[in-house]
Amino acid sequence: MNPIDKQAQQRDGADPLAPFREQFLIPRGDDGRDWAYFCGNSLGLQPRAVSAALAHELRCWGELAVEGHFKGELPWMDYHEFVRDDLALVAGAKPCEVVAMNSLSTNLHLLMVSFYRPTKQRPAILIEAGAFPSDRYAVESQIRFHGFDPASDLIELEPDEPAGTISDAAIARAIAGHGERLALVLMPGVQYRSGQRFDLAAITAQAHAVGAIAGFDLAHGFGNVPLDLHDAGADFAVWCHYKYGNAGPGAVAGAFVHERHADSDRPRFAGWWGHDRETRFQMGPDFVPARGADGWQLSNPPILALAPLRVSLQLFRQAGMDRLREKSIALTGWLAEQVVNELDDVLEIVTPAESHRRGAQLSLRVRAGREAGRELFGFLAGQGIIGDWREPDVIRISPVPLYNTHADIARFIEAVAQWRRQGGQRNG
Ligand SMILES: *Cc1c(COP(=O)(O)O)cnc(C)c1O
Repeated sequence: MNPIDKQAQQRDGADPLAPFREQFLIPRGDDGRDWAYFCGNSLGLQPRAVSAALAHELRCWGELAVEGHFKGELPWMDYHEFVRDDLALVAGAKPCEVVAMNSLSTNLHLLMVSFYRPTKQRPAILIEAGAFPSDRYAVESQIRFHGFDPASDLIELEPDEPAGTISDAAIARAIAGHGERLALVLMPGVQYRSGQRFDLAAITAQAHAVGAIAGFDLAHGFGNVPLDLHDAGADFAVWCHYKYGNAGPGAVAGAFVHERHADSDRPRFAGWWGHDRETRFQMGPDFVPARGADGWQLSNPPILALAPLRVSLQLFRQAGMDRLREKSIALTGWLAEQVVNELDDVLEIVTPAESHRRGAQLSLRVRAGREAGRELFGFLAGQGIIGDWREPDVIRISPVPLYNTHADIARFIEAVAQWRRQGGQRNG
């Protein structure tokens, strides 16, 4: 056995969370081997418990029909309540601050309706340059919707570090520098392309110091890195659950509204499910918002989409957020170490080297250029090693502590080395 495989075996043998892999369905290649699946940052694997949870709701629908709203083990009327405590745990929030609803981009718009209130003196939104397209479209359209101009009022913070990441100092400078014009600072928890993790508490404090709102897109943060939304003081946050949340394609998303806004009379777009629960079914004409994040709901929730989320989140509680983070740091740290030691001539790590500045994902730039990178990516996929490609030249590899192993990482390292032996990078 080669030294890398041997180390992987020892590390996996000593991993207290190893049994959680059994809780997931792992796709197999034609050769009958499990995939080395590093794409949990895009679509998390399916927890085995999902089928039964869905079958249960289908049975309730068949046997109880409309009475399923009130009867059965998990009455649909309160179904979003059944995910609340686990959501709060993963988001580092109080239960009243979180709700599962809609999709990420929808929630971003809904919360900007309330928390982006531009004025002539203070019209601007600060985001990171190279933000996820949906977020950029959302903020740009909000700025226009209010009659302002993205050319002057959308401020995009450029990377200042060699690999294309952003220093804490640059963030602080930008917020202070644009201070009086900033209505909203909207930053990611973990940047989707670079894998850089940001300090939510520091950014929030800097935004508040200049009188701006602090909002976060946690699409790549939720279920990946420890979040402390309440203590960080963030005003609002949104995320999806199909990435590290493992709740299935297009899963219902999440939203956070800080307790200090729980009784807010800020403008909002209202719907009946956001109405105070006690009086919702009096069906009166006037909207009385439910306290906290619940008050931003629009519609009665999609039960068949919430059922997978309910069982998926239970795994986070069982594994424990601290233990998951500990394993994540070990897994990704080992991946980084092997890339630096074995593959430095092939791959450059874009993601920051310090573990507190990243989550599970490493973004790897292929030194030989885009064409070689595409080829390597295809070569890996052919061996059942599944990462993803982000234009123009980045391969993202995300070892997920709930189901990935050091053996998966060893396969990746050996496959890239094999590609190099075959002269792959010369093709670039
Ligand atoms: C994945 C992701 C999205 C996707 O938005 P949906 O509304 O769920 O389609 C948006 N923003 C970021 C930063 C993402 O990583």
